[in-house]
Amino acid sequence: MRRQRNVKIVATLGPASSDKKMIRALFDAGADVFRLNMSHGEHSEIGERHRIIREIEAETGRPIGILADLQGPKLRVGVFANEDGEDLVVGQAFRLDLDAAPGSNTRVQLPHKEIFEALEPGSSLLVNDGKIRLKVEKCGKDFADCVVAVGGTISNRKGVNVPDVVLPLAALSAKDRKDLEFVCRLGVDWLALSFVQRPADVAEARELAQGRAAVLSKIEKPAAVLAFDDILAVSDGIMVARGDLGVELPVQNVPPIQKRLIRKCRAAAKPVIVATQMLESMIESPIPTRAEVSDVAAAIYEGADAVMLSAESAAGDFPVEAVQTMNAVALEVESDPTYREVIEASRGGVKQSVADGIVSAAREIAETADIKVICCFSQSGKTASLVARERPAVPIIAMTSLMGTARRMALTWGLHCVKTNEVSRFKEAVLNAARAARTEGFAEPTDHLVVTAGVPFGQSGTTNILRVAPCDERLILPADPD
Ligand code: PGA
Ligand code: MN
Repeated sequence: MRRQRNVKIVATLGPASSDKKMIRALFDAGADVFRLNMSHGEHSEIGERHRIIREIEAETGRPIGILADLQGPKLRVGVFANEDGEDLVVGQAFRLDLDAAPGSNTRVQLPHKEIFEALEPGSSLLVNDGKIRLKVEKCGKDFADCVVAVGGTISNRKGVNVPDVVLPLAALSAKDRKDLEFVCRLGVDWLALSFVQRPADVAEARELAQGRAAVLSKIEKPAAVLAFDDILAVSDGIMVARGDLGVELPVQNVPPIQKRLIRKCRAAAKPVIVATQMLESMIESPIPTRAEVSDVAAAIYEGADAVMLSAESAAGDFPVEAVQTMNAVALEVESDPTYREVIEASRGGVKQSVADGIVSAAREIAETADIKVICCFSQSGKTASLVARERPAVPIIAMTSLMGTARRMALTWGLHCVKTNEVSRFKEAVLNAARAARTEGFAEPTDHLVVTAGVPFGQSGTTNILRVAPCDERLILPADPD
């Protein structure tokens, strides 16, 4: 089974998509990676979804990526005496403090001591997805007296964003640490870190993960945008988390940031996901708005590795239709000649290694001659991501003997991952590649493919061979070079 598009689809699982039938339907419709959102659901539910995905993987024989999204230091207000909350009007005073007593029209608890230490007069606090804006007038170590700049209803445990300050918060809360250990034991492929502010936040998660999962940074704070180059350098992947980013920054700042981040990720050969509100109206409607279709298309034209569904697939009424819509948009965009023009014009990044040269030659040869597929052997996934960075017009098969690598690479643009047995000689690799190209539906016996690999095998980062070979194994002769 092969997909007919290069961009990948990430589908978040939730109450609307937790049984096997639905998860299988999402996979069949085009989901390549499933996201488990640790902000919602018990460990038992998360574990069950994980089990179902692995079952579908075994049944279909296709490696599936699983991304566990850690909640991160999400700030929330306490509770109100009035269950419906309170209406705050512009110009009124409102106090945040550490007192757990139920809130009123004049105050509520903000149970995060560190925040009061970081606030200054003039700082903004945004409540309930940015709908309410409070301006700090006076503050101390356990209170902040604010004036309401934009009013609205504030109610129990609404989220709070503090855009202007780098918060003295640990990247991982106690809950995150527990969740991280739980999902690493389950065996997820990617960990997504929420509200990353600095490179050290990523290092902390990496230490706890100990190589059991790759680490992806969600860019949703202004501080992370500023420190992006350093954060990218220590991350395995990136998510443009437009939901919180659009709360913490003026919304019109998000599109240029999205474009810039996608380019930088491609140059660094690290996968980037564009997330949030991509098909928001499909939570309730089987048909997307024109603007949403345009948004998904724009992310694909920009060269994103993956587009993501959140509530659309987790809690909406039309999860399968949402995946189908993304798939249909991707097919259309990728067959547009303008797409190839844009993708080729933005090819770049530093090239200095033998592997860089080989993957670029592989693309050149495959696009010049009548070659059906590029097959690259990649143990760590590094070479495969370099091939993907080239964004060749010819499909890519990424061959690896490590299931973890195959699953992780499910997130990367254009990679069709195949798990092989361990090979020790180049000829064996070519034979495996030829077989995979035919059985996976990429080539006929009369076709040719390009194979790249590194000898000796089993050493990461050694890509040093390129061969054009026939897809008919019988034509790979005993006299062929080993
Ligand atoms: P969330 O992250 O859905 O976990 O909030 C994505 C975003 O903020 O866009
Ligand atoms: Mn977020």
